[in-house]
Amino acid sequence: MTDTLTDSAPIAAADIASTQYVVTQERKIRTAIPGPISAALHERRRAVVSDGVSSMLPVYIAKANGAIVVDVDGNQFIDLGAGIGVTTIGHTEASVVAAAVEQSQDFIHTLFTVTPYEEYVRVAELLAEHTPGDFAKKSVLINSGAEAVENGVKIARKYTGRRAVAVLDHAYHGRTVLTMAMNYKAMPYATGYGPLASDVYHAPSSYPYHDGLTGAEAAVRTITYLDKVIGASDLACLVVEPIQGEGGFMVPADGYLPALQKWCTANGVVMIADEIQSGMARSGKYFASEHFGWIPDLVLTAKGIAGGFPLAAVTGRAEIMDASQPGGLGGTFGGNPVSCAAAIAVFDAIEANNLLGEAVRIGKSLTTGLTALKNKYDIIGEIRGHGAMMAIELVQPGTGDTTKTPNAAAVSAISTYAGQHGVLLLTAGTYGNVLRFLPSLALSDSLIIDALSVIDDAIAAHAAALTAALTASSH
Ligand SMILES: *Cc1c(COP(=O)(O)O)cnc(C)c1O
Repeated sequence: MTDTLTDSAPIAAADIASTQYVVTQERKIRTAIPGPISAALHERRRAVVSDGVSSMLPVYIAKANGAIVVDVDGNQFIDLGAGIGVTTIGHTEASVVAAAVEQSQDFIHTLFTVTPYEEYVRVAELLAEHTPGDFAKKSVLINSGAEAVENGVKIARKYTGRRAVAVLDHAYHGRTVLTMAMNYKAMPYATGYGPLASDVYHAPSSYPYHDGLTGAEAAVRTITYLDKVIGASDLACLVVEPIQGEGGFMVPADGYLPALQKWCTANGVVMIADEIQSGMARSGKYFASEHFGWIPDLVLTAKGIAGGFPLAAVTGRAEIMDASQPGGLGGTFGGNPVSCAAAIAVFDAIEANNLLGEAVRIGKSLTTGLTALKNKYDIIGEIRGHGAMMAIELVQPGTGDTTKTPNAAAVSAISTYAGQHGVLLLTAGTYGNVLRFLPSLALSDSLIIDALSVIDDAIAAHAAALTAALTASSH
C-alpha cells in the first residue's frame, strides 16, 4: 500500500527506504522542521560529512516530483530552488527517467575518448542548434559547471595564445582552484584556499539598480579597465554570466553585453557566456544571452542541461573549439551516456511541452505577485530577472529606494521562515541581500500564489519582530 500522507504520524526510520510516497503538487507540513527522522540523519551526517559542506535546510529528502520535494518525515515543500536551477524541467520528469533507465540498460559507460557513442554526438548537435549564433559550432562535454569554466579558459588560451582571464564584479564561476579565483566573493569560496590562480582580473560590471549607468556607459567603464589594467594583447577571454547568478540575479543594462562582445571581437578576445545557471530554457529563452542580443563566442552549460544528471558543456565557434590538440580536452566521466540520454530528453521536453512559454508564464506570475509585495513592504527595493529566474533585492526599512542599503537580516529571516513553512527559497547576493526564485518549470500558478503568501507572512513576521525589538529597547 502506498502512503498517501493522510495520517499525521511521522514515518518510522525503518520505513524510509520502502515508503512509496504519492507526491501531490501541494505544500504540506506535518512535523517540526527539521522533523525527527531528518534530525537523526543529521546526527549521522555530522560524524562523517565534512563541515565544509553546508546545507541550507537540513531536511533529508525521500522523494520529489514536479515542483514538490518530500522529506523523510513526510513534509512536502514547494521547491523554489530546483537544486539551484538544475531540475529545470521538474523533478523526476517522466521522459528523463525513462531515457536514463533505457540507457542504463544498454550501457552505462565506455568513455567517449576510448570508444564513442551516438548520444554524445546528439547532445553536441542539439547544443550547436540551440545556442545563439548562426555559424559552425562544436562542443566538448564534461561533468560540472566549474569544469566547463576551466575548459572554456583552456580553449580560449590555446586559441589566442594569451594568458589573462577577465571576469566581472559579482561573478560566480565555481569552486575549483582556477574558478575560486574568478569569483567576486572570497568568503566562503577562496578564503584560506590560496594561493589563487594568477592572471585573473575582475572588471567592473553593469548593475543598474546601484550604478545607474546605461549599458553604453557601463561598457565604457568595463572596457577601460580591460584595456588599461590588462591590455587586449594579453587577454585570452572575458567570461560573463548574462544574468549573474550567485551575485544576485543582476540583469545588465541594455546594450552592455553586445558592446563588450564588439570590443572583444575587434581585439581578438574570446567572449564566453557562462549560461550554467541562466541557460536551458530557464529565462524564457534557451539562453539568457538572447534577451540582450548577445551572440557569444563560447557558451558554457551545466546545471539544467540533463534534468538532474551531471553533465556540462563548452559550445562555440568551431575554429576556437578546434584549436586544442587531440587529447587536450576530455575526462573519464565527461559526456556520460546516461547523462547524455537525459539531456536529449530535456531538449525534447522543452519543445514538446512548450517550456519556454512555461518559463515566461512563471516570470509573469512571479512579477505580479512580487509587485504586490513590493507595494506592501518598503524593504523590497527591486524586482528583477527573466522567466523562472527572478529575484528581489532587500533594502533597509523606512528608506525605500533611496539608500539601497543591503538588508541581509531580512533575507535570512524570510528564507528561514519560508523553510519552516514548506517553501524552499534560495538566497543570493554579494551582500546576502537577495532572495532568488529559481523554480522548476513545472511550478503551477496556484503553487506560486501559495508560496508568495508564505513569503508575505514571513516579511510581516520579520517586520513585527523588528518593531517588538525596537519597542523593548526603547523602554
Ligand atoms: C553553479 C555555477 C557554476 C559552477 O557549477 P558547478 O556545477 O557547481 O561546478 C558556474 N557558473 C555559474 C554561473 C553557476 O551558477
